[in-house]
Amino acid sequence: MKISIKAPAKINLSLDVLHKREDGFHEVEMIMTTVDLADRIELTLLKENRIIVDVSEGFVPNDSRNLAYQAAQLLKDRYQINKGVHISIKKNIPVSAGLAGGSSDAAATLRGLNKLWSLHLSIDELATLGAYIGSDVSFCVYGGTALATGRGERIEHITAPPPCWIILVKPPIGVSTAEIYRNLKVDQIDHPDINEMISAINSSDYENICKQLGNVLESVTFKLYPEVQRIKEQMIRFGADGVLMSGSGPTVFALVKHESRAARIYNGLRGFCNEVYAVRLLGERYY
Ligand code: ATP
Repeated sequence: MKISIKAPAKINLSLDVLHKREDGFHEVEMIMTTVDLADRIELTLLKENRIIVDVSEGFVPNDSRNLAYQAAQLLKDRYQINKGVHISIKKNIPVSAGLAGGSSDAAATLRGLNKLWSLHLSIDELATLGAYIGSDVSFCVYGGTALATGRGERIEHITAPPPCWIILVKPPIGVSTAEIYRNLKVDQIDHPDINEMISAINSSDYENICKQLGNVLESVTFKLYPEVQRIKEQMIRFGADGVLMSGSGPTVFALVKHESRAARIYNGLRGFCNEVYAVRLLGERYY
């Protein structure tokens, strides 16, 4: 038996950090939404009691360091599963890019194995389990658009933003999320107005959504990797409606309403960077 599942990337429309907690994590408030750029996960039931991971990108680990592997192991341990699975991952989402590719692969594996191993877990139970793998996994279990709080694992669904184009540009550098958080000065943060962003989304006010985009990690990444800031400036120059870095970067995304302008920005940025994607926002929940 074989199951094939899409694992879409996320972007952060807002990312705020409130403080550093005693457990070392940061207390965050984020608005996340999914976009139509997805890895493809194929799960095949194995008779032998083992987990095998196959990844299309050579530099992504194919052992217990892979987040999809960890998702399968978690379910096996928790529910005493004596069956095995072959996990094949076709990566389309850039790696270490601030787009939660690994988390989305883990979330898709949880959803898929729930079916393949007939576990009958609810989607909320899968999201709760996801938090043991990583802070973004819970959101990725549901997809859609949500306010994520705590360390990112507490999810409140909100309505989808109005449809638009998303141009994603991934500069040729990998950014370590831990490094960016280490360099963040929590007492010097200029906080985005998350409530105003939620009300802009609720009222489908595209202009105000573009205005409210904000990510407190941007200035940290820009300082360490000035080329990321230059990409943002180029996208603004090419006429994007709104531009923001996603997560801890280095991917920068633009919101664009009109297709012709999206094409202009896409073509313009291709002159500076190899990894440019033009996709649609996928703000509706898929589960
Ligand atoms: P986040 O925004 O959650 O920090 P990211 O998009 O910046 O995530 P990922 O692409 O998820 O970063 O990769 C982060 C790290 O996780 C990399 O070091 C990568 O080797 C490892 N990793 C483990 N499993 C996967 C996977 N299935 N796909 C991609 N990377 C994975």
